[in-house]
Amino acid sequence: MEFEPVIGLEIHTQLKTKTKMFCRCEIVDSNSPANSSICPICSAQPGVLPLLNKKAVEMAVKIGLAINAKINRFSVFARKNYFYPDLPKGYQISQYERPVCEDGYIMLTDKKIRIKRAHIEEDAGKSLHSIGSEQLDFTLIDLNRCGVPLVEIVTEPDISSPDEAYEFLTELKKLLRWLEISNCDMEKGELRCDVNISLRENGSKKLGRKVEIKNLNSFKAVKDSLKYEIKRQSEMIKDNKKIEQDTRTWNAQKGETISMRSKEMANDYRYFPEPDLVPLNLEQRLIDEIKQSIGKLPSQIRDEYIKKYSLKADDIEVITSNKYINSYFEKITNFTDDKNVIKNAINIINGQLLAYINENKINDEDFLTKSPDPEHIYQIADMISKNEISSAGAKKLFEQSLSMKKSPKILVDELGLKQISNTDEIEGWVKEAVEINKKAFDDFKSGNEKATGPIVGYVMKKSKGKANPVIVIDILKKL
Ligand SMILES: [Zn+2]
Repeated sequence: MEFEPVIGLEIHTQLKTKTKMFCRCEIVDSNSPANSSICPICSAQPGVLPLLNKKAVEMAVKIGLAINAKINRFSVFARKNYFYPDLPKGYQISQYERPVCEDGYIMLTDKKIRIKRAHIEEDAGKSLHSIGSEQLDFTLIDLNRCGVPLVEIVTEPDISSPDEAYEFLTELKKLLRWLEISNCDMEKGELRCDVNISLRENGSKKLGRKVEIKNLNSFKAVKDSLKYEIKRQSEMIKDNKKIEQDTRTWNAQKGETISMRSKEMANDYRYFPEPDLVPLNLEQRLIDEIKQSIGKLPSQIRDEYIKKYSLKADDIEVITSNKYINSYFEKITNFTDDKNVIKNAINIINGQLLAYINENKINDEDFLTKSPDPEHIYQIADMISKNEISSAGAKKLFEQSLSMKKSPKILVDELGLKQISNTDEIEGWVKEAVEINKKAFDDFKSGNEKATGPIVGYVMKKSKGKANPVIVIDILKKL
């Protein structure tokens, strides 16, 4: 490619507090009736004053520490002024010149992405547009979201491909979920992403004109819209066309970005310090306490597992995806540190267990109480490692131990799932199979490994699927 993309991200994450940022209204989900959780403060009645939610501040500091940022002990709230029907105050309380967190970073597989800032902000309400069928168009306003606490995280333009943007978001989401700061459900608007992108000639230091894409509601939309912009902008440069600085939106159906407003119409938010809130003054003691509470982060745990159990990064994805599944895995490691058994246990978690969790819609919080006994997973993994059961047998044991609430160790005998590893017995069947499938045996002898199919098939049929296939092959090779 002749052009190098220069990409920066702005991510809004909704904090998992019980109440709103500046009032005591409970945070309700999008299924709640409109305007069912509002009060004079968040609906902007005259004469009210905001009251800061301590928990939200603590969560913002937690994010800052987890992304290796500097925590400003002194930070200031600011008014971001703009008019919108679902913003009754006519401004959003945010942070501008002195945010609570600055200069952090997140490590990707082989790159550091710097984070410029992370600041506290309140959400606006929601407009529900109805294009009426009887010449009546109207918009209804729901203020339930008004004042919901957000943290906005802004990266430096260190990202240089759509894939890298995707990786960064995945890593950030993981971190936020791990810290139980946000559920990051993008469909519910708990995580929202804006991107900015410009192209520069390979090797050049000069930045091109920046284009912003707003309101991307999935990681896929981020990746796809960036891919589209790279193509659009490089074609324009090649055709000697001038790229306008503009703000665009992503149309997923059409697979293209569309201009919303050009530079001339860019917003001027007239930021100024919020007169109704004193500056935020954090005690070092509080910051230290929050630091203590964080513990190990998923990236640290991942590095430890890779070393200790010789695993690949992909294997570890699920078991480090949240605290609950991680402590579940840790419980399995109490029974063994055998690398093979651990690897088999992870395979069960990544496959059958995850499918079971999804099927039964089990929340992260309920993971430990509603999942199979970790010892059962260990037992199945152990039997696989010792070649005592086949993969089909392992599957059956997983299902049966769940429904019958019995340990796989007992069930394996009750259900007759133990593989036959008695060499004499298997040898007899293999010899029979060779007699019947002479051609296959000759092919195998002349080096065609795949020719064993009919022979193994015969032995399996004879043994009702219980012959250990590893031993079958061993005997065949001996013959
Ligand atoms: Zn309220």
